[in-house]
Amino acid sequence: MSGQRKRFVIIGGGPGGTTCATYAARLGAEVTLIEKDLVGGAAHLLDCIPSKAMIATGGVMATMKRATEMGLTTVDVQLDFDALRNRINGIEEHLEHSLTGLLESQGVRLIEGTGRLSGPNTVAVSGNDGTETELEADIIVLSTGSRPRIPEWAEIDGVRVLTTRHAYPPPELPTHLIVVGSGVTGVEFVHMFSSFGSQVSLVVSRNQVLPGKDPEVAKVLEQSFLDRGVKLVMGARAQSIDVANNTVTVYCDDGRVLTGSHVLLAIGSTPNSENLGLDEAGVDHQRGYVQVDHNLKSSVPHIYAAGDLSGKLPLSSVASSQGRKIAEHAMGLHSGPHRHLDYDKAASAIFTDPEIADVGLAEADAFAEGRKIRVTKVPFSVSAKALINNDSRGFVKIVSDPATGEVLGGSIVGRHAAELISVISLAVTAGLTVTDLAESLFVHPALAGVLGEAAE
Ligand SMILES: Cc1cc2nc3c(=O)[nH]c(=O)nc-3n(C[C@H](O)[C@H](O)[C@H](O)COP(=O)(O)OP(=O)(O)OC[C@H]3O[C@@H](n4cnc5c(N)ncnc54)[C@H](O)[C@@H]3O)c2cc1C
Repeated sequence: MSGQRKRFVIIGGGPGGTTCATYAARLGAEVTLIEKDLVGGAAHLLDCIPSKAMIATGGVMATMKRATEMGLTTVDVQLDFDALRNRINGIEEHLEHSLTGLLESQGVRLIEGTGRLSGPNTVAVSGNDGTETELEADIIVLSTGSRPRIPEWAEIDGVRVLTTRHAYPPPELPTHLIVVGSGVTGVEFVHMFSSFGSQVSLVVSRNQVLPGKDPEVAKVLEQSFLDRGVKLVMGARAQSIDVANNTVTVYCDDGRVLTGSHVLLAIGSTPNSENLGLDEAGVDHQRGYVQVDHNLKSSVPHIYAAGDLSGKLPLSSVASSQGRKIAEHAMGLHSGPHRHLDYDKAASAIFTDPEIADVGLAEADAFAEGRKIRVTKVPFSVSAKALINNDSRGFVKIVSDPATGEVLGGSIVGRHAAELISVISLAVTAGLTVTDLAESLFVHPALAGVLGEAAE
């Protein structure tokens, strides 16, 4: 160790790595962060932020198309792909710039290059400028993220056959996009491109979109897709793709065949760990995900993993929280037992129209476990603010303990669900009761009022 300062070497500058870097530096560590592309990671540059920026543009288009319902005359809205591309680039540049500034202001040393474990206490760096160096570390944090999974039956060309990483925006607006995969990512792309005016077909391998989510929630989304003319191909698995004469053909395992202009695969992810030197350093992993304990420590005690690479919940918010926890743990901030991350209490959202968000115990899971719960559900149609907004679709559902009233979970479908879920999320984390929520003096008129009503 150099003097009293612990030397952190962090590989990967996404939300996991950058949050760990800033916290560790604030706690007095000497921190080096190695990033091969741009600081901010896939989260800022390839996944969450660009997808949400495109969805926001699609949302404005949809609102403008319904202008007459709000007492306005219609305007002709056209998508300008170049302007959209510039908008996304501008957001990314701003985020990268501010994050780099934050890291530098905390004294974090940034190295542009590719890192790999060369031993239990050393990291070899191939700099983007061609230099080769080896860094010694007291603490190593692996936060190299993940990338879209590509099945062996698909050849991605980035033109007609796309992954999520080719879609911000794609080379051209698809006339007919076939989305394979109906998880969170797949349905967000269906929403995005149908709001831009593309015809969209969705290949759903089960009997509902969003497998694992509350069926009632999934139903609302399915109906919204059908209302927009999205074709749902239920209970089918894509098994091969052909591209000829600007047409893609997707063959499903049950004999169904779909044709379109483009296909986008959203069927999960693969960890970025092949060349990370895990075996050389003795780090246990399964299918490429680093095995970690509740402190995010790997099988080698001073090597930690954060973010998607840890195989926990693949969310940017979770990656950041893990990064902070690692910094605190490695710096010995918690001498006694401290609060570990409880992934069951992580809020998540799906940025479709309507938005969907949930947190904590789901009604279906409680039912499957035979657990006694109280469920209250209030539709947004009772809300004056929903009527003012000209959008009263959806509902708030709160799951609580019938004996104590403790809020155990909830789901929201409707406008601003991703923001509103924070209230239930706080209640779940802080162990608040339905009475606490019901007695909160929410603003009126506001959609949050429906939360209070659902808690009564
Ligand atoms: C389409 C899509 C939309 C999403 N939307 C959301 C959302 O709305 N909200 C949400 O919470 N989550 C969302 N996610 C998930 C989120 O993007 C990830 O969970 C998050 O990016 C994980 O952060 P991370 O720090 O683990 O890795 P990443 O953000 O993937 O960053 C890893 C970094 O490591 C770098 N790297 C890799 N290998 C090396 C190496 N050997 N040396 C140096 N650098 C290396 C990479 O260049 C990258 O910059 C979305 C994912 C997808 C696919």
